[in-house]
Amino acid sequence: MNQDSRIVSGVGVSPGIAIGKAYLLEKGRIPIPYYTVQGEEAVEEECGRFEAAVVKAEKDLEAIRRTVGPEFKEHAHLIEVHQMILRDRLIYDNTLQLIRNELLNAQGALMRSLINANELFRSLDDEYIQSRIADVEAVGERVLRNLAGQEYDPLSSVPERVIVVAHDLSPADAVQLQFERTLGLVTDMGGRTSHTSIIARSLGIPAVVATEQATRLVHGNEIVIVDGTSGTVIFNPTEEEIGAYYERQLVLESYLKEISRKAHLPARTQDGHGINIEANIELIEEVVAAKDCGAEGIGLYRTEFFFMNRRNFPDEERLFTEYRELAELMAPQWVTMRTLDLGAEKVAVWYPKIEEANPSLGLRSIRLCLRYRDLFKTQLRAILRATAVARNIRLMFPLVSGVGELLEAKNVLHEVQGELYRERIPFDEKMPVGVMIEVPSAVAVADMLAKEVDFFSIGTNDLIQYSIAIDRANEHVAYLYEPLHPAVLRLMKQTVDAGHKAHIPVSLCGEMAGEPLYVPILLGLNLDSLSMNPQAVPRVKNLICRSSMKDSCRFVKKVLQISTAKEICELLQKLTVEYFPEEFRVFDPRSLIPESPVRNHKKRNKYNRRRSIPTNDDPIQV
Ligand code: PEP
Ligand code: MG
Repeated sequence: MNQDSRIVSGVGVSPGIAIGKAYLLEKGRIPIPYYTVQGEEAVEEECGRFEAAVVKAEKDLEAIRRTVGPEFKEHAHLIEVHQMILRDRLIYDNTLQLIRNELLNAQGALMRSLINANELFRSLDDEYIQSRIADVEAVGERVLRNLAGQEYDPLSSVPERVIVVAHDLSPADAVQLQFERTLGLVTDMGGRTSHTSIIARSLGIPAVVATEQATRLVHGNEIVIVDGTSGTVIFNPTEEEIGAYYERQLVLESYLKEISRKAHLPARTQDGHGINIEANIELIEEVVAAKDCGAEGIGLYRTEFFFMNRRNFPDEERLFTEYRELAELMAPQWVTMRTLDLGAEKVAVWYPKIEEANPSLGLRSIRLCLRYRDLFKTQLRAILRATAVARNIRLMFPLVSGVGELLEAKNVLHEVQGELYRERIPFDEKMPVGVMIEVPSAVAVADMLAKEVDFFSIGTNDLIQYSIAIDRANEHVAYLYEPLHPAVLRLMKQTVDAGHKAHIPVSLCGEMAGEPLYVPILLGLNLDSLSMNPQAVPRVKNLICRSSMKDSCRFVKKVLQISTAKEICELLQKLTVEYFPEEFRVFDPRSLIPESPVRNHKKRNKYNRRRSIPTNDDPIQV
């Protein structure tokens, strides 16, 4: 065994194996040289450099302030605060003094001022001043970037065909990464249902998150193996390890190729029960993958991703063009458009960051839309206009917590429909309107909600987070994020029963839908459709076609009597290994057992079998 091998276990969030060179994404690290300057002319030049960097920061902030949509004007003051900090005596005057009196270079002087300000703020027993520390740091970073003479954008410099290793990656960063050119992804932070994981899965990039230490262990651009199924990452692997994983990769690819051939057939169990299989997409570009993988519609379009990574809020025309194109591309199949689900980890630059102690429970999603009506109405107008094209759009409201909130959202929709009607702009008056069931309170009143909508879609990612109080993106508690928690299964069952009692279909679009291991449970719960990342469609369809609805219902009846997730998981693994031997010879069903964050390093030994495939210094590109 190679003593240099460094093996880390995390949460495997996107299955598959990647072998390639590591690329450490050092986001936020700005080069800060320290030196002294000599002579009056050099000192003035340094002061001039600092002044120019401040002026540029002022201009950039002003540009951002101007692009803040009218809906967010009340938050524009946060940008003004940053503008004021730029010229604050503590930072601005101090830095110039340090350059002139101590002959420090601009970066060194600014860093010293920032450290002094930070220490001073921390020593004051004043909550308001303490809360400004982050603002000072952000302003300092902006000026330091300007002094470094670069539009510092670490994402644009990621080379092709590497395994990206990052401390964390926000969803906005993730969509910017050239994922189609990324072999694999490893992060210290994150969880199975954080949006970065969802994107990796959609694009079929093997990924392991929540390693807690990957960025600390990676040295340079050494070779790294990412096993996105088991959650194992091996830095600087031995030849034997590379050989073993390469072989597993071949087996996996040939299995996927084989099941892909049948992916266009409908998902029908052995005893004739049909279930609709749809795709979740974040961007319109994924439609091709969704169709190729055999999806029978879009069960969830996360519209917020089109709003992220933009300087401005896209206007109605821009949105309409996008939505129309999507409807046309998918027709005659359905496209389920979810209204903006911004907030929490999904942020956009065009609205100022709202400081919230607990953003997952804060002003996000439908609440944000109901607060900023103009923004909401703009999106609804664009969606409604697109419905006229092929009459294949369904609308869905996210994070609804009760009937009152739903009625408020529907009122806004009716208002917009009335406006379009008066303006003689065509739209589909029969557009189905549904609601996501992802807050426990919505389950409790599902019978009442069902009277108001045409369909339900269960969002297990949030439903799990809110029902068992586990932040879905927090690596420290990732092992407690249990989709098979008896409470979660009961909530799902209650939702299906309430929907069916009211004669409306119930879909599931959380990440659970795309986990092949859960197929017997999802079938047995009698869901009408499942929507998942496109890559999962062939695997899930294949397993459904090998299942029996009668057996699945019997199995779920038994499962609902079990009191711990661990027991349910073990039973499920036993059943699936027996029923689907081909699938679970290739994919390890144990990878879904929640693990303690204290990693089990012994796990690696099963991969240390001797293989004789030679390696060279180049990465294996897969
Ligand atoms: C969910 O919560 O299950 C869901 C599908 O929505 P998102 O993952 O975008 O929050
Ligand atoms: Mg959600």
